[in-house]
Amino acid sequence: MDLDRHDFELDSLIESIKSNDNRLIALQIPEGLKMQALEMMDSIEDNTGAKVVLAADPCYGACDLVHNKMQMMGVELVAHMGHSQMNIDSGMPTHFINVTYDGDPDIAPALPILHSHRELAKSRLHQEIDVSNEEDAKDMFLDAVGRVAPLEDAKLGLVGSIQHLHLIFDYKKKLENAGFQVEVPVGGARLTFPGQVLGCNYSGDDPKIGHYLFLGSGDFHPIGLVLHTGKPLTMLDPYTGGATELSLARVERILRQRFGLIMSIQDAKTYAILIGEKPGQMRRTLAMRMKKLLEKHGKKGYLLALEHISPELIDFYPVDAYVNTACPRIAIDDSVRYDKPLVTPYELEVALGEKKWENGYQFDEIP
Ligand code: SF4
Repeated sequence: MDLDRHDFELDSLIESIKSNDNRLIALQIPEGLKMQALEMMDSIEDNTGAKVVLAADPCYGACDLVHNKMQMMGVELVAHMGHSQMNIDSGMPTHFINVTYDGDPDIAPALPILHSHRELAKSRLHQEIDVSNEEDAKDMFLDAVGRVAPLEDAKLGLVGSIQHLHLIFDYKKKLENAGFQVEVPVGGARLTFPGQVLGCNYSGDDPKIGHYLFLGSGDFHPIGLVLHTGKPLTMLDPYTGGATELSLARVERILRQRFGLIMSIQDAKTYAILIGEKPGQMRRTLAMRMKKLLEKHGKKGYLLALEHISPELIDFYPVDAYVNTACPRIAIDDSVRYDKPLVTPYELEVALGEKKWENGYQFDEIP
């Protein structure tokens, strides 16, 4: 990663610490930037009257704000890097730093993929989906594009990860000049910026968008977006300048795995219901609803609350399966690491017959 091309906005943080006359602040930064943490701590301490504590636990999102433990330590301000504010209150004054990257790759490598995806989207316009029996319904579940909501248009949805969103309207113009009708989706309260997506929230999607371009690196956000929408997606990586598509075969492999997990819990009698303790992952009401649902079906659900969820912390409990209400990506991306089936609330509902296969796969979104 070329750190010189990232803007860590340390000057504005230093100004804010000085103007508030903070004496103790906490610095919370994502895993990929932790190597730079000590340098940043030096710079803040050298330029202000504050001491800095690094929140050194893993941090993967703004859902994971440090909270009461830092307050007990006397921390007055949290500087949270790499993620934008979401609709949660950690109870601590928090200064968000988006950490933007100035790379603006050429769109040319993405154009052939975008043209083919637009044709695919056009072919799906107003498509009716016919499900007449249980086998068709299960096929529908496994079909990465088998969505019930018909498309109303074949526009290009332009989205990105936080580091690149400051470029999103420049890219909209570039793509319009290349002949695309472009929409920058605006999502719900969990998202701060137009075009923003999170691993757990794609609420800006709409039926007029037929395919997507994701500005960012890695396939974490793209996988969630395609699981959620079934729409073809091109990735343009600002760090390498390369363009690729997220293959539907990849998403179908994930759906087949989800299908297998649902089948494997048909006879499960006891469940651990996982509740995330991080402020933006805590879905207590959903967890209680799962417990009641299990009781209704003559099964047992034990509520387990954890800050970090990992196999070492839960695999020894004598239950048949887990249902996860914390970060949805724990079930989707990590279930192979656990000894027992780890499913989402929706997948449990399908296994119990409360939700139908023919409605297609429903991504576990946190609104
Ligand atoms: S995907 Fe998970 S880690 Fe990322 S913001 Fe959502 S809940 Fe947090």
